[in-house]
Amino acid sequence: MARRTLRSAGCAALLVVCFALPVFSAQKVIIDTDPGVDDAIAILFAFQVPELEILAFTSTFGNVETKLATLNSLRLVEMSGKHIPVAEGAVRPLYMKKLPSADFVHGQDGFGNVRLPAPTQRRVDQSAAELIVEIVKAHPGEVTLIALGPMTNIALALLLEPELPRYVQAVVAMGGVLHVTGNVSPVASANILNDPHAADIVLGTDWDVTLVPGDTTRQVRITDSFLESVRDGGGARGKFLHDMSLFYRDFYRSVGVTDGFYAHDPTAMAFVVDPGLFETEERATRVVTDGMAIGEVIAATERHWSQPGPWHDMPKAKITTTVDSERLLKLLEDALLSR
Ligand code: CA
Repeated sequence: MARRTLRSAGCAALLVVCFALPVFSAQKVIIDTDPGVDDAIAILFAFQVPELEILAFTSTFGNVETKLATLNSLRLVEMSGKHIPVAEGAVRPLYMKKLPSADFVHGQDGFGNVRLPAPTQRRVDQSAAELIVEIVKAHPGEVTLIALGPMTNIALALLLEPELPRYVQAVVAMGGVLHVTGNVSPVASANILNDPHAADIVLGTDWDVTLVPGDTTRQVRITDSFLESVRDGGGARGKFLHDMSLFYRDFYRSVGVTDGFYAHDPTAMAFVVDPGLFETEERATRVVTDGMAIGEVIAATERHWSQPGPWHDMPKAKITTTVDSERLLKLLEDALLSR
């Protein structure tokens, strides 16, 4: 992910002295998102870290409807003062009926009902899938796709350009539960249940894909004292982050999570910024696409089975298992407090 590479910076031929200076190389990323309070925290974090170069945002449904996800992405870009294209993505899953948005978690505006003004910038005309394909082809092997919502747009990009894995450096997706209970069914998390077919395509493709599941993201809790620190020291950005998070915090309190809320999307973003904070395992990973276990992520240690069928010769995905939450929260707080 984020790389610091050593390159020869130049040789003084006469002196026969060659300097090897460290040259920082930021990780190019496209962020696919359904903002969403925790998406917004992840994105505000991403704006502040030198390890990432955000090439585009693509919007999707989930926490909010896609149209609002587009507007909220534009709002976040404007807040950053940067010029980053935003493309609108899919408005529904690949095959199944769309589920309702989670306004009871994120507020009707997706930002905890703080009601920001309308953005002045406009989205680009291309679809999310078209922009993803165009950008990764312009930077072959250099772009990481970060999926903070259902993986519909990534799956559509794969369908649009079957050679996409040749061009993409890596995919990092937030979602799924393996050893903890799901938040939308006993076995499913929202990002996966919102489009299980798309998740099955993305996780089952032979490319460098990492799933950051709820098992990991629930290890990272954002507390009131964290929010107050960011509010007091993070300028207008910090105040916005604090204010929008209160609604989200109160939702978690209402379901019994009282010692801070889960930092789902910020944790996935932190994996791209500093993968050294995490432990991972490699598993053949598929997603249940119908029946009562729809949306369940199944991660197998083996990929070869005696019987032909849906698991035979499956590629392996990486799945995060543990995270150093203390260091991650320090990284997040320092970034949000930086100018
Ligand atoms: Ca999200």
